[in-house]
Amino acid sequence: MPENTALRAALAAAAEDRIIFDLDGIEGQYAALVRELPGVSVRFAMKACPVDEVLAALARQGAGFDAASPHEIAQALRTGVPVERIHYGNTIKSDRNIADAYRLGVRDFATDSLQDVEAIAVHAPGARVFCRLATSGEGALWGLSRKFGCSAEDAVRVLEAARAAGLTPSGLSVHVGSQQMTADAWQSALDSLAEVLVALERRGILLDHVNLGGGLPALGVLDKRGRPLDPPLDKMLAVIREGVQRLREVSASPLEFLLEPGRHLVADHGAIRAHVARLSSRRQLDGGQEHWLYLSCGKFNGLYEMDELQYRLEFPGHPGGEYLPAVVAGPTCDSDDAYAHEDGPVRVPAAAASGDPVWILSCGAYAVGYMTRGFNGFDPLPYSCVRGGGAGPEGPAYALVGTDRPSPNPA
Ligand SMILES: *Cc1c(COP(=O)(O)O)cnc(C)c1O
Repeated sequence: MPENTALRAALAAAAEDRIIFDLDGIEGQYAALVRELPGVSVRFAMKACPVDEVLAALARQGAGFDAASPHEIAQALRTGVPVERIHYGNTIKSDRNIADAYRLGVRDFATDSLQDVEAIAVHAPGARVFCRLATSGEGALWGLSRKFGCSAEDAVRVLEAARAAGLTPSGLSVHVGSQQMTADAWQSALDSLAEVLVALERRGILLDHVNLGGGLPALGVLDKRGRPLDPPLDKMLAVIREGVQRLREVSASPLEFLLEPGRHLVADHGAIRAHVARLSSRRQLDGGQEHWLYLSCGKFNGLYEMDELQYRLEFPGHPGGEYLPAVVAGPTCDSDDAYAHEDGPVRVPAAAASGDPVWILSCGAYAVGYMTRGFNGFDPLPYSCVRGGGAGPEGPAYALVGTDRPSPNPA
């Protein structure tokens, strides 16, 4: 994980709770990914961080967008990105959603069923469709299986139906599951893609692109027991590079390649400044004494994913001193709003007092969009975007980009 000085300086300067995104860090992550995967275009999966400043920064670097609804499409268009670099990547859409997207100018639609193809043919006549293949989701923290994608045989049927309905069968897509931890998952996804490409060619359907989906991991998050997850990123990228090469060889038509990362581009470049509500100690019904550290921020205002992973916590007011094992939890009256619940305690400063700042690192993905409108009266977090100050050793270590914003979905 990069040592992120602008982000740390902004966290240190924050007097109130907020989520902060480092735009230089996000741009650097995008540049690194593009460098590692030559010939692959990146379309950011917006749901991972639907923040205007972040989207605009990525668009300026050349990214396109994977949008999941007409509202996301409209937000992507506000960055100034040409509509050709936006696709409707959600296989789930109503007639109205399709018509709205078409009116906004989108011509590329994901699909995985005959019913959806039929609707696209009516409400987005002549559009291009790409079919999502199902994956097992094995090896991922969030599998995304069953709800999306179809079998190899169905993909052939779906794209044949698209052609018959006057649509352009243009591509295939996969998603190996979010925070995928194995390179094998990409290997098997690439194998199925090759198989379906060949089956389609036999029926005279030549595609022009393959979309390798999201799933690339955050690097700085911890597993449910608090250990570094350490995903084999280099190996994953090597498998993707080789797979792209192989698909190019297999295909009878020239192929473009897309990747739609969400988490990987933003997770490690966003952090929350929260504060301690209370460190308490209570005896449980089974007789055991437990420490609980309640934070101002939890599952419903920034840390929605805390049921599957843990974040690195820093307590800047407590550089030394005694630490003790505690369950860490959010402030609401929901017992799911807690982490390290059954999976081993977290070390927290014994002297943590109400109001002390807490930094929650590598939580830039899926934080903003998943915030509630103020469950239990706890406001969604405001957010800000920063860059390195670049003003020499005495200058400010970070610069605010735009103005501090209330959360995009304020209560
Ligand atoms: C959520 C999503 C992504 C991004 O997934 P990450 O695991 O965050 O990279 C990409 N494509 C589609 C279709 C998605 O639904």
